[in-house]
Amino acid sequence: MLTIGNHISSSKGYEAMGKQALKLGANTFAFFTRNPRGGSAKVIDPADVERFRMLWKEKGYGAVVAHAPYTLNPCSDKQEVRRFAREAFADDLSRMEYIPGNYYNFHPGSHVGQGVQEGISLIADLLNKCLKPEQTTTVLLETMAGKGSEIGRSFEELRMILDQVSLKDKMGVCLDTCHVWDAGYDIVTDLDGVVQEFDRVLGLSCLKAVHINDSMNQRGSRKDRHARIGEGYIGLEAFERIVNHPALRDLPFVLETPNDDDGWAKEISMLRGKASY
Ligand code: FE
Ligand code: FE
Ligand code: ZN
Repeated sequence: MLTIGNHISSSKGYEAMGKQALKLGANTFAFFTRNPRGGSAKVIDPADVERFRMLWKEKGYGAVVAHAPYTLNPCSDKQEVRRFAREAFADDLSRMEYIPGNYYNFHPGSHVGQGVQEGISLIADLLNKCLKPEQTTTVLLETMAGKGSEIGRSFEELRMILDQVSLKDKMGVCLDTCHVWDAGYDIVTDLDGVVQEFDRVLGLSCLKAVHINDSMNQRGSRKDRHARIGEGYIGLEAFERIVNHPALRDLPFVLETPNDDDGWAKEISMLRGKASY
C-alpha cells in the first residue's frame, strides 16, 4: 500500500497527531518539531509519545517525517541565526529520540550572498556538530526550488554537502516534487531520467522520502509555490507515474499542498487509487 500522509499540527502532541493521521486515511505524516517560524519547542510528555508509539505499532505503520523550522538557516551570514540553527537542530535531534528510527528533514539553507561553497561548508559544519553516532534518526536534506540564494536546488549541491559530513550513515535526502520541478528537473516528461540523474549524483539508497506537491509555476521558475495535486503545472498524470515509480513507490510520501483536512483526505485516497499496488 502507498505510504502517504500530510503535514499535521504538533500542538496537541504525538497521540493527537497519530489519531489525526488515521482520521485522514494517512499511514505516515509530517510535523514541525517546533513553531515553523522558529521559537521554543514544547516539552515532550513521555506518556503521550508512548501512546503514539503503541498506536503506530498496532497499525504496523512505518516512519514519520519531522520537519525543522523554516527559519533555521545554518548558512546565514549572522552568527546569532547560525547559533539558533545549531541549538534548535541539536535540541530537535535529541527530542526525536523519543520516537526512534524516524526522519528529520530540513532545508539546507540560504547563503545570502556568501556564495555556494561557503554556504555548503557552514551547512556541513552544523551537521558535523549536531549528528551523534548513537542517534537513531536519519537527517534528510530537502531538495530545494532555488528561490533566492537557497542551497540544494541541484543534486550536485546536496552531494557536496554530504561529501563534507563525517557521519554519512545518519544522512539521507527528501525529494520535493514541487521544488525539483521549480529547480528545472523535468519530472513530467522524463521522470526516469531525473531518477537516474539522482542515482548517478547521490545514489538512490540515500533517497528516503518524497514531498508530493504540485507547482503553481512552470519548470525552472525557482518560485516554490505549492499547488494541490493535479491543479498545477506538474499535473495528475505525472503524479500517477511518480507514486508508481519503482524507485519511489516504497518511500513515505508527504503532502504539503494548500488544503484543509477534507482536501488532504481526498488527495490521500485519490493517490492511493492511482497507485497500482
Ligand atoms: Fe520543506
Ligand atoms: Fe517540501
Ligand atoms: Zn516548498
